[in-house]
Amino acid sequence: MFLDEQIANLSRRIKNIEANPRPDLMKSNKLRYEIELDSMLHAAEAWKAGKPFAILGGVEILNLPLGFEQQGYVEWGDRARAPERYMNIAVNKFGWSEHTCDRTLAALGLLLSGEVPMPRVMSSRRMPCEPERWSLMAAAKYAGILFFEVDRLNSIGEQNLRTVADHMAELIEFCEKSVPGIKFDESRLVELLEMDDQATKYLRATYDLRKKEPCPIGPQDAFRLIRMPSRHHDPPKVLEYCKMFSEEMLERSDKNMSGVKEENLRIAWLATGPFGRGTFDLLAKKGVSLPWFHYGLGPQTFGVMHDDYGEDKIYGRKLKPLEEVVRTWHANVWGADAATWVDPLVTVCRDLKIDAVVDFMQVGCRTTNSMRWITAKRLKDELGIPTLDLEGRELYATESAQQEMNRKLEEFLDMCIANKKAGKAKVK
Ligand code: SF4
Repeated sequence: MFLDEQIANLSRRIKNIEANPRPDLMKSNKLRYEIELDSMLHAAEAWKAGKPFAILGGVEILNLPLGFEQQGYVEWGDRARAPERYMNIAVNKFGWSEHTCDRTLAALGLLLSGEVPMPRVMSSRRMPCEPERWSLMAAAKYAGILFFEVDRLNSIGEQNLRTVADHMAELIEFCEKSVPGIKFDESRLVELLEMDDQATKYLRATYDLRKKEPCPIGPQDAFRLIRMPSRHHDPPKVLEYCKMFSEEMLERSDKNMSGVKEENLRIAWLATGPFGRGTFDLLAKKGVSLPWFHYGLGPQTFGVMHDDYGEDKIYGRKLKPLEEVVRTWHANVWGADAATWVDPLVTVCRDLKIDAVVDFMQVGCRTTNSMRWITAKRLKDELGIPTLDLEGRELYATESAQQEMNRKLEEFLDMCIANKKAGKAKVK
């Protein structure tokens, strides 16, 4: 069963960190895994007690203020030890398309497997990731769960802010009317927005530290997404982790610590990546640092862009709490036009002295595939940086496909390292 498997796996990882601390990885990972373990234990208990869960895709921050228990969707599918098991349920049992992003397939199959709580309400929104939206819709339809979709306009201005906030208010009303005991608490939402804002401040303090050569964070740690406090049943614990992460980066930078023995190359990795394929060990082995992982909220989270909580300059007025939630949508650089995605990337690559870029082409991810040409062209034209379009699947890949992917990556890295060394030699 998924939750039992996760609890056993996370407990083993924590014990392993205690028994074999690795200087190339962050010490704060232990707290990170403890938080994950805590959330799995909490979900298992709440499920047993019959508490109501919800999957509010894209507006997860409303979960706690509504009084729902937190349940992951794609995040849980990503953690599955044997994702094929869940993909088979989605594809073979329910007839879902096989040729879409495997993260959204695993999430769908996991929900339909009966191994996780059945949420009382599901919602999606017109989000940057279409396969995720379709997967959420399909899950609700196949499982007969109440469903609500939050709409938006085709712009990100003031009008959209109001429209989406009004639609979210309708979602809240829908949940209150449909599930006994559910009641929205706006002050709780404000508390969570403030905590997320504080977490963002801690994380922003790490941006300048990434400029340092060698980069103080290792490739594997740079790739880990940091979930905001509002997404966990115990938000202060996540805030504590963000603080610890930030302080540890500073300490590593002061002590000249790095995640690689000798830094031969600095790369940025885009969009998403292969989990558990030895890819990040390959980077570390070759002395390749990963100062930047470029994803939708990365530029806002780490302070490359600013559209901050409580800030009234952009909209010319103080925003209401639900409008503050929409502000975070507006700050997402993923899935809009290519300039929105590439502009901050160019800034980051310049700031962090990036030598090369790997654009991970997840099979079935329409957004990545449609932006690949512009991304590579602009990086080459404006910064002279090469880009590798690396095709792969995140969770489900055959042994030979994995080997082929790592072979292409290694070839590209070797070429970039050789070019960098030759360039340095010429300068001397
Ligand atoms: S890889 Fe692409 S399609 Fe898959 S979940 Fe991420 S954004 Fe969506």
